Amino acid sequence: MRRFCEDLFIVEISSVSTEALVTLHAELHRHLGGSVVPRVLWRYFQRSNADLADRFPNYPEFEEFYTRPRNTLDEYLELHTLVEKVQTIDTLPYFVYRLIRGAYIFENLAYLELRYTPYLRTPEHLSQSQRIEQMAEIVQVVGKSSQLSEYPIVTSQILCMHSRLPYEVNRAIVDLAAQTPEYVCGVDLAGGDAQYADRLDEFITLYSYARSLGLNTTGHLYETKSGCYPELLPYLMRIGHGIQIPLLYPELLKSVADRRQCLEVCPTTYLKTGTLSDLRQLKVVFDRCFEAGVDIAISTDNAGLHNVRLPFEYESLLTQDIIGFQQLQACQEAAFRHAFAYPHNQTPAKLLTELLDHKQMAHASL
Ligand SMILES: [Zn+2]
Repeated sequence: MRRFCEDLFIVEISSVSTEALVTLHAELHRHLGGSVVPRVLWRYFQRSNADLADRFPNYPEFEEFYTRPRNTLDEYLELHTLVEKVQTIDTLPYFVYRLIRGAYIFENLAYLELRYTPYLRTPEHLSQSQRIEQMAEIVQVVGKSSQLSEYPIVTSQILCMHSRLPYEVNRAIVDLAAQTPEYVCGVDLAGGDAQYADRLDEFITLYSYARSLGLNTTGHLYETKSGCYPELLPYLMRIGHGIQIPLLYPELLKSVADRRQCLEVCPTTYLKTGTLSDLRQLKVVFDRCFEAGVDIAISTDNAGLHNVRLPFEYESLLTQDIIGFQQLQACQEAAFRHAFAYPHNQTPAKLLTELLDHKQMAHASL
């Protein structure tokens, strides 16, 4: 995890108004695979992958192919495999560097949890046990590559169990998360929620095991109509998406609020996966959650795949009157509150305002 450098801020804040500081955001739900923006991926193909460079000789066609909406979640998840294949132990530093740089410069991120399935970054020709063994190295590479002194974001990883991977692999992912707290802050379950049904007991066991190891948990759940499994809910500290709870099962909101679970709502995803046809359908989600006292952290999910950055997600919710400024601020604060690895009990804005006040008081007393 990246050290949150207060000293660095103290040096800089004397010339900055406190209002400027509220532009520091926390991102809780972003996939490493879907984070590569189309131009970075296309350039990578041109430089290093002759097959894919031949398939996509021109950038505009590639961007169109990469970012166009899909009909279903499964079809959308297929695209991840294109990126997963090129994100290897050797190329990960290239992609992670560009991801962190973009997140700092264009999104003002102060905090970022990056999630992925480490097993899917290991070479396919290796045996299962060899691939499991190599996962630790992947986590190290991602962890080290995300620590950039010129772009100081607090980062940590969430390791995703995968609904299409065998139990042994998922259990090894949980073990690895517990063994590397310096880089990993929690576990997730991804890969398409319609696939959970046949193996529900297995995933309950895995989550229960993760909790017994003291791990933080989130999981893709109640994202689509076919991904609603109340049995899994009690094991999660945050819910990946969860929008079907307020939409279809509002009676569950009280227990979600009682458990202090936060929904990670990723607006653009629902349009890209065909889960919603209009973003304004999210108004009910926000209204019901606010009414029930359920926190929401607005996230991007796959910022690169969508070609949409976090501030744009905020702006589009505001301009379409889905939420107001006060609600937006509540969601931004909730993101820091529910962050698994944020080392402070206040948002950067409040923290820095306090530091400024403190500094002014110290000056006045001289
Ligand atoms: Zn996701």
